[in-house]
Order: sequence, then structure tokens, then C-alpha cells
Amino acid sequence: MIDPQIFIAAVKGALARGGISPDAPVSLYEPMFGEAEVAAVSECVRSGWVSSAGAAVDSFEARLRDVTGAAHVTTCVNGTAALHIALMLAGVGPGDEVIVPALTFVATAAAVRYCGAVPHFVDVTSEDFGMDPVQLESHLNVTAERRGDVLVNRFTGRRIAAILPVHCFGYLCRIEEILELANRRGLPVVEDAAEALGTRLAGRAAGTFGLLGTLSFNGNKIITTGGGGAIMTADPALAARAKHLTTTAKVPHRWAFRHDMLGYNYRLPSLNAALGMAQLDRFERILQRKRKLHDAYRCVFRQMSGVSLLEGRAGTRPNHWLNTIVLPGTLSSRDRLIEAAHAEGVLVRPVWDLLPTLPHFADCPHDAFSTARDFADRTISLPSSEFLGADL
Ligand SMILES: *Cc1c(COP(=O)(O)O)cnc(C)c1O
Repeated sequence: MIDPQIFIAAVKGALARGGISPDAPVSLYEPMFGEAEVAAVSECVRSGWVSSAGAAVDSFEARLRDVTGAAHVTTCVNGTAALHIALMLAGVGPGDEVIVPALTFVATAAAVRYCGAVPHFVDVTSEDFGMDPVQLESHLNVTAERRGDVLVNRFTGRRIAAILPVHCFGYLCRIEEILELANRRGLPVVEDAAEALGTRLAGRAAGTFGLLGTLSFNGNKIITTGGGGAIMTADPALAARAKHLTTTAKVPHRWAFRHDMLGYNYRLPSLNAALGMAQLDRFERILQRKRKLHDAYRCVFRQMSGVSLLEGRAGTRPNHWLNTIVLPGTLSSRDRLIEAAHAEGVLVRPVWDLLPTLPHFADCPHDAFSTARDFADRTISLPSSEFLGADL
């Protein structure tokens, strides 16, 4: 058992290095804005182009292409909508199954349901909390069989249509192995990189490995547009369809309102894109501050035996979106630690409830997800706002 006071002292000790007063309440995540953000949004309002027209969305998409190296980026209203459209573009439809990690934010699996498909939950690794390709391989060997052109879950009879890995907390999952496995089975990969803008492997950005990848710019993500998301792909035809589907499937025309299929009003307003531009202007600085905050946590938790800070795997460059520790043992003191920290104004959080345990996903197929079960109960996410690293 870890003494709550020692735990709190460690967290506050790391934050004190960055000049944060031990008495100041600290939330898990809050966005940081400067004069540039205020100016960008004001300018957008002054221009009158706050909604669907105006140059801000095009500029923001171009800047996102620069930052990620993605050939095509289509912004949309939030990360969940981005996932919904990306899955549709990957060919996911009613009655299909999509392989999803058991440990992720609920939106990953919700987007699968929006397509009329069923999430099929699989385990994660203890190293990066991402989908485990080795366990997935053995699970598919038992569960999946090829019938003609399609891969079928032999227990449910449903087609397995895609794999949807997540880069959890900004740590790159074992995406190369997942891609290799997916290619062998003819499955498209859609990457949920909502938490991983800026995360890289050998210069390649999270979200640009699969057929499609998605980002989120919610208020608690590494950059924010208030609310927002994006779909990334190397395929120009998919990018064109992403734009079409997210903009009510309106056929571009100077004056006619013609819609050639069922589309969605998922576009990102200019006002939000303007905020995103200002955030991306200092993206390298944001990443640097996040790295320094992570280093500060690493220093203090290195000295606490049994507690390990998630680091991501060797060779990757995580964005350190959300610093997270794993406590020792199975009967952990996690809730006592969280309770005590909250009493002191340090708003640490447990990880999400495992998705296969939620009532609305109770009927979904899953593997044993034993690593996710083991780790979910002893994981604590630490305050990780950008400003906490500003003076480090
Ligand atoms: C935030 C998040 C999303 C959804 O993004 P929104 O912009 O909030 O809709 C999806 N998946 C993961 C893993 C996330 O963290």
C-alpha cells in the first residue's frame, strides 16, 4: 500500500519544480491560451466568417498536414464524428464487427455503433495501454475464419470489417505489428489518434500509419479548437469523400443546393479553426512543455518503489498528453489515493471503466482482456496541463 500523503507529496513535488504553489488547486487538464489565441478568434469574429465559409478551415487543414505529414486532412466537428466518418470510409457498415481495445475512451466504441456495427473488444499491452498485437493474433486464430473474400467471426457469424487501434494517452501502440497482421487478413486499419497529435515513430506521426486516422481537438486534448476533430489519409479519393460526407454531401456549386447522398453536418466552424491555428503556431513549444512535465514526474516517481510511470515504448516519441502511473499489486490503494488527492485539490483521475463492462456494450464479443482488467484498477492519471510545464 502506498501512503496517500507520500503520493500527494510526490505529485506536488513534481509540480513545484514548475513553480506551482502547493496550495493551488490543480485540475487534470485545462487548455492554455495566450494573446495569439485571443487575437486569432477576435480576428475571425471581426471578419464575420465564423461559420462554414472563410479561409480559416483551409489554413488549419494545411497546417495539420505540415504537422502530421498526412497527405490529406479533413477537419470536422469533433473526434467522435471523425471516427464515425473514417469507419464508414473504411467500409464498416451495419452488422459488421470492428476490433477495438477494451481500454479506451467510450467514443471509440460509440463510433462503431453509429455505423450500425458491433465493437469486438480485445486486450491491451501493459507497456503502452494500446491494442496487443500478439494477443490479437492468437484471438483471431481462434475466433476468425475466412469465408470467401471476408473474414468472419465464427461464433457470431458477423463479418470482421476493420481494426481500430488507439494511441492511449499519447503513447504509440504497436501499430506496425497491428498493420502487418491486418494486411495479412485483408482488414483496413483506422487509427484513433485523438490523444496522440505530435506522437511519432521514426519521424512518422501517429494516425498516419493506417488507411485512415483521426484526431480530436477537444478542450482536454494536446491542442484544442474548443471542440473539433480531423480525418487523415494518404488516399485522395477517401479524402474527397471525407470532405463530402462531413459537409452534408453538398455538391460544390456557386448557388445551387444539391445533395447527392445522405451526408452529415460534421464540418468544423471557422471560429474553431482560427483557435486551432493559433495553437498549432506554438505546437513545438507545447510538446516541449509536456516533455518537461513528464520528466518532472519521472524524477519523483522513480523514487517511489513499485510505482511506474507510463513511458511508451523505446524508439517512439510520445506527446506525453496524459501522464499516468501504475500502482503495484492487485489490491491497490488506488481509490484511497485519489480520494486523498482530491481532498487536497489535486484532481487526479482513474482510467476509464473498461468498455466491455458497460451496460450498452455488454452483448459485444470480447477476448479475456486480462491485462486491461489487471491494470485498469491500479492506474492513476496525473494533472498534465501544458501550463504546468511552462516554467520547467
Ligand atoms: C477524446 C477522444 C475521442 C473523441 O474525441 P471528441 O473530440 O471528444 O469527440 C475519441 N477517442 C479517444 C481515445 C479520445 O481520447
